[in-house]
Amino acid sequence: MYDLIILGGGPAGYVAAERAGHAGLSVLLFETKSMGGVCLNEGCIPTKTLLYSAKMYDHACGAQKYGVTAEQVRFDYAKMVGRKDRVVRRMVAGVDAQMKNSGVTVVKGFASVVGKTSQGVTVGCNETMYEAKNLLIATGSEALVPPIPGIAVAGDRVLTNREVLALTQCPASLVIIGGGVIGMEFASFFNSLGVSVTVIEMLPEILGGLDREIAGQLREMYARKGVTFHLNAKVVRIEGDTVYFEKQGDTASVTGERLLVSVGRRPVVNGFGLETLGLEMERGGIKVDEAMRTNVPGVYAAGDVTGFSLLAHTASREGEVVVDRITGGSAAMNYRAIPGVVYTNPEVAGVGYTEEQAQSMGLDYRLIKLPMAFSGRFVAENDGVNGLCKVLVASDDTVLGVHILGNSSSEIIFGACMAMARAGKLSDLKEVVFPHPTVSEMLREAAFH
Ligand SMILES: Cc1cc2nc3c(=O)[nH]c(=O)nc-3n(C[C@H](O)[C@H](O)[C@H](O)COP(=O)(O)OP(=O)(O)OC[C@H]3O[C@@H](n4cnc5c(N)ncnc54)[C@H](O)[C@@H]3O)c2cc1C
Repeated sequence: MYDLIILGGGPAGYVAAERAGHAGLSVLLFETKSMGGVCLNEGCIPTKTLLYSAKMYDHACGAQKYGVTAEQVRFDYAKMVGRKDRVVRRMVAGVDAQMKNSGVTVVKGFASVVGKTSQGVTVGCNETMYEAKNLLIATGSEALVPPIPGIAVAGDRVLTNREVLALTQCPASLVIIGGGVIGMEFASFFNSLGVSVTVIEMLPEILGGLDREIAGQLREMYARKGVTFHLNAKVVRIEGDTVYFEKQGDTASVTGERLLVSVGRRPVVNGFGLETLGLEMERGGIKVDEAMRTNVPGVYAAGDVTGFSLLAHTASREGEVVVDRITGGSAAMNYRAIPGVVYTNPEVAGVGYTEEQAQSMGLDYRLIKLPMAFSGRFVAENDGVNGLCKVLVASDDTVLGVHILGNSSSEIIFGACMAMARAGKLSDLKEVVFPHPTVSEMLREAAFH
C-alpha cells in the first residue's frame, strides 16, 4: 500500500512526486510516455528551444542596426530541430533522475483506475494491481481538433502542436487556425524563418484573455513582419491545401502547405476508469476545490486535467498543494497571481486583471501606462522597437494587474507576481532598489506615476 499514486508524469505529477518523496511519503507514479508530460516533450520546452533559435536568426539578420555586420546569415532547420530534441532529452533525463533521487517508484505504462475501497484506491497497469491511500490524477490535456468538414481527410497536412514540432523540413507556407498563445508562438517561429504564415482567428482579436491593447499591438507588429491575420473569421471547411472561412457573411479562402490547428486543449479524462470513482466534473475537467480535492475523499486532481489554467507553472503549484494537504498542511491555491507569457519576439507577459476584466467587473482602478522606452536598458537592446507596460492599481494602491509588451517581460513579470501574491501596494516598490540598468526598472518607474 503506497501513500500516494500519481497518474501522469507532467509538471503536476512529477513535481508532486518529488515533493511527496522528499516529505517521506511512499510514491508510485505512472507515465505512459516520457516523463515531463506535454510541457517537456511537446509544449513549453521544445517550443521555447525552437523560438530561441529563431530569435538568434532574427538577431543575426538585424545585427546591422547594432553596428555588427553578419553576412550570408542562414539557418539549418534540421539542426534547429536536432538541438530541440537534445534539449528535450536532457530535461526528461533530469526528471528521471529527480524521481530516483526523491525515492519515487516510476512505472512506465498506461494506468487505469480499478476502484475505490475503504482503505484507498486500486490502480491497474501492465496487468498488475497497485493500491494507495491517496490518488492524484494528473493526466493533463490533449489538443482539441474540431470536426471541421474535410479535416479528417486532409491527412498529414493537418498538424497539432505535436506533429508540427516533429517536422524535419520547414514548410513554405502555414495556415494557423487559432490565434491564441500556442498559435502565435508558432506564427512567430515560422515567420522568423521566412515561412508565409496566415492566422485565422474566430474572435475579434488574437490572444483572447490577454490585455486587448497589447494583443492588438503585437498583431500589428507581426502584420508588419508579414503575417496575414483574419479576425472574426470562422473556418468552415478544408479541401486539400485550401482552408475556407467565413468572415462578415462572406466566404474567403487561403492556401497553405501545412495547416496547424491550435484552437484549444481538452482535459484527458476518458479511457482510464475514472468513471469508477464517480467524480464531479466541471469545464470538461475534474472539479476540485482550493486544496485540489475532488468530491471523493483521498482523490485529488492537479494540472490541465482540471480544465482550468492550462499552464505548467499552475500545474506544478497545484501538485505541491496536493502534497502539502496529504502531509497535514493547509496550503490552498491562489490564482490571483498566475502569470501568463507569450514567447513571441517581442514577448508579452501579464499577471492579474486586464483592463477589460477590471471594467467588466466594475472595479475602481487607476491605469498607469508607460512606453518601454522609459527603460534605458530596453532602448539599448531594442533598436527601432517600442513596447508597453500597463499597471492597474486599486484606489488603495493595491496592484491589480501588470501587462507588458516587450522583451525580457517573461523574466521580470515575477516581480509583479510577488507583489500581487501578497496583495502588495505599488508604492511598496518605491522602497525596493532595483538593479540599473534593467528592464525591470519599468515596474519601479510605474510606482512614481
Ligand atoms: C505547444 C505548447 C506550448 C506550451 N507552452 C507553455 C509555456 O510556455 N508555459 C506554460 O506554462 N505552459 C505551456 N504549455 C502548457 C503546458 O504544457 C501544460 O499546462 C502542462 O504540460 C500541464 O501539465 P500536466 O502535468 O497537467 O499535464 P501534462 O503535461 O499533459 O502531462 C500529463 C501526463 O500524463 C500522462 N498520462 C495520461 N493518462 C495516463 C494514464 N492513464 N496512465 C499513465 N500516464 C498517463 C501523459 O502521457 C502525460 O505525460 C504549452 C502547451 C503546448 C501544447
